[in-house]
Amino acid sequence: MRISDIMARKQTFSFEIFPPRGELPVSQAMDIAGQMVQDSPDWISVTFSAGGSGNSGNTTHIAAHIQNETDTNALAHLTCLGSSKKDVDAYVSQLREGGVQNVLALRGDRAPGRVARDFSYANELVSYLKNADPSLCIGAACYPEGHVEAASLAADIECLKAKQDAGADFLVTQLFFDNELFYRFREECVRARIKIPIAVGIMPFTSTKQIQRMAFTCGASIPAAVIKRLIAAGDDPADQAKAGVEYACEQLRDLAANGVDGLHIYSMNKPQVAHATHDALVECGYLSA
Ligand code: FAD
Repeated sequence: MRISDIMARKQTFSFEIFPPRGELPVSQAMDIAGQMVQDSPDWISVTFSAGGSGNSGNTTHIAAHIQNETDTNALAHLTCLGSSKKDVDAYVSQLREGGVQNVLALRGDRAPGRVARDFSYANELVSYLKNADPSLCIGAACYPEGHVEAASLAADIECLKAKQDAGADFLVTQLFFDNELFYRFREECVRARIKIPIAVGIMPFTSTKQIQRMAFTCGASIPAAVIKRLIAAGDDPADQAKAGVEYACEQLRDLAANGVDGLHIYSMNKPQVAHATHDALVECGYLSA
């Protein structure tokens, strides 16, 4: 089913997984997805070589498994920097063969030696995909604090409007830890006439080290409330991870109460973390038990 059709009729709840790195078997991702579907997400997204992991080869394979074997909608990510139109055509064929209708069209991060071939920005990929297969439902990324390369939030929102105009059907946000920044961004989107639904991406942090890395790679600001919790958790990895899940659940409850279009959990291949967010959303009435 098209994600935009689901979002048109309800507030959604979804998870993200990433294909295993290195030599790990693909079956590991299938197992993780199998556990996550127990919480009845509206869809599960599968990343494409995120963080330069080079594990893009299995994205469509895992997405097709989710779509066909678990009766859950799959969203396959695709980045375009360094890719040719021929590469994208091959990917679209794989999606079609696997019965996957939803794709998240991304540029991908800049990296040494990764030069633009047929695509420089995500809006070009959105437009190309729309023409290649009009039946695809196309998502795009958005950044409540502005993308790290953007001169300003306003400039980034103009580029976001270009993705909507190119045919994007829905948006998924970058992670953030301060909901007020999202509410401000949502108002700016309304002003910019961005009308497609926005699924809010929330990541339960797992450690002090990890949140510091995220802050640097995606420019997410870390509010004092998070720092205080991490100080209280001390050096114990289990306490740090517990603080991350508790903080994310509080964020999610607040977002649910503020009428978001969808909640997407960056669950980092951890079904127990995904499950904790599910339970928090049942408790506050966003999801039914
Ligand atoms: P774009 O929309 O192209 O924007 C990139 C930058 O260029 C921005 O600063 C924007 O303001 C500017 N810009 C956009 N269009 C134009 C234009 N026409 N002219 C001039 N400037 C422009 N990465 C992965 O490798 N794999 C993944 O699976 C993955 N999944 C992600 C999922 C989500 C929900 C998000 C938010 C990010 C994900 N990323 C992933 C990271 C993403 O690839 C990076 O954030 C990347 O740097 C930007 O991708 P984009 O699609 O937003 O790019």
